[in-house]
Amino acid sequence: MSTPTPYNTGLMWFRRDLRAEDNAALYHALKRCHKVWCVFVFDTAILQPLRDRGLRADRRVEFIHESLIDLDEQLRALGRSNGAEGVGLIVRHGAATEEIPRLAAQLGVQAVFANHDDEPQAKARDAQVLGALAHAGAVLHTYKDHVVFERHEVLTQNARPFTVFTPYKNAWLKALTDYHLKAYPVERYAPALAPCPAHTPPGVPTLESLGFQATNLRALKVRTGSRGARALFEDFVARIDQYHQARDFPAIKGPSYLSVHLRFGTVSIRALAGVAYAMHLQGLAGASTWLSELVWRDFYHQILANFPHAVSGAFKPEYDAIHWERGKHADALFAAWCEGRTGYPLVDAAMHQINQTGYMHNRLRMVVASFLTKDLGIDWRRGEAYFADHLIDFDLAANNGGWQWAASSGCDAQPYFRIFNPVSQSEKFDPHGKFIRRYLPALAGLPSHALHAPWLAKPVELESAGLVIGRDYPAPVVDHAVARAQTLERYAVVKKG
Ligand code: FAD
Repeated sequence: MSTPTPYNTGLMWFRRDLRAEDNAALYHALKRCHKVWCVFVFDTAILQPLRDRGLRADRRVEFIHESLIDLDEQLRALGRSNGAEGVGLIVRHGAATEEIPRLAAQLGVQAVFANHDDEPQAKARDAQVLGALAHAGAVLHTYKDHVVFERHEVLTQNARPFTVFTPYKNAWLKALTDYHLKAYPVERYAPALAPCPAHTPPGVPTLESLGFQATNLRALKVRTGSRGARALFEDFVARIDQYHQARDFPAIKGPSYLSVHLRFGTVSIRALAGVAYAMHLQGLAGASTWLSELVWRDFYHQILANFPHAVSGAFKPEYDAIHWERGKHADALFAAWCEGRTGYPLVDAAMHQINQTGYMHNRLRMVVASFLTKDLGIDWRRGEAYFADHLIDFDLAANNGGWQWAASSGCDAQPYFRIFNPVSQSEKFDPHGKFIRRYLPALAGLPSHALHAPWLAKPVELESAGLVIGRDYPAPVVDHAVARAQTLERYAVVKKG
């Protein structure tokens, strides 16, 4: 293989890979260029629509902001360890499509380096940047970093992308070698990190100067940056052997809570998958289950890359024929769902969790998504958009995949006739009501057996809990049995098609 052309100067553009360690694009930039500067752009093309929707305090923006401070420190430390002062992260606020070519021209770089982002908007942005750079005689190099396998790397025997998870996972495991999990030794080429020139000083602007306010991120003790990811992973590895048993119970500390770090790349997927894979080979059931979740993540990313039509429509187009509820009544039901006022405690507690913290437990994501689509008959895209606005770990590939799974329109989805019963889900996965009580204090006084369907509680139980249905807690907005029958009818159009 021929050695790629070396460049005198390059620019590393961070996006969803906010770490200096084991970062593919940063490694290649440092290896190929004599001098490298690093930049992050608070992209107004992303931030302005958030502000337009009234989201002036956004946990994601704050998470990124905190993580950039950490990244800046990592870069400074890498520079110092090589005797260079003034190394750090340049941060810009503007349209990335303009800021990157402008900065590249100011610095006079020959090449910009970044990691792949397969979301349609990101691809359009990158194509624009590539064009602008080419116009100025510079190039854009991009690399796989966000997933273990991407795009067309794992294919069926007929060289087609997989659309069913289990065979994908088998092929994924078969294709995996040490090479795919090996860390990029960024530190080896760190001497190429260049001090920032005087006209582009490093440093992260304040949240306020970006037009955002602080959220409750600190009060929630959300750990940010690579340091935060490391601490979370250490905590999780100590209990990973329990994962397969604990992961479905929202009251228990079962999952890793690493999704936001995977989303923004404050942790390397190779590092996580490497540990999980080694433990899987040792026969640790919890690690095998967790590794499967990481494979689901790759699966949905390759679905997004190969089937972008799923972003706006059903993966299986026949599901676009479904008539969803519309109008005032549907809007009122949707508002009740968003605000946790459906009268179904597990659904309501879950919606309070997302509203108060920006996180929702995986089991509950499935329950509330099923409830919205199959109990309320509301278009999955409305729920998907609500999650997109409120989840700190919002990721287009996983969110779209999750919603289409629940709505049965997805590639390897729940069959449409399988409809979660919100009461039995509650009895099964929050049997003592510990999670429900945490988010719905009005119900705290009810005995556990009555907590899952409070409208069926005995008058004496309601009285001793000081609870009046309709006053302290809503009556159910729909009857599950009736809604179930309506859903089967609604989905019959798919069967006919
Ligand atoms: P863990 O159980 O510790 O899992 C480890 C990692 O595996 C996660 O961080 C995530 O990166 C990945 N993962 C786990 N489950 C899935 C899955 N089903 N699909 C893809 N990747 C998975 N995940 C997101 O990261 N962003 C989203 O916007 C998102 N939206 C969802 C919407 C719906 C309707 C559903 C049903 C699921 C959604 N998920 C999403 C997947 C899953 O719920 C979260 O990844 C998980 O709850 C995050 O918590 P954790 O990090 O503690 O997970």
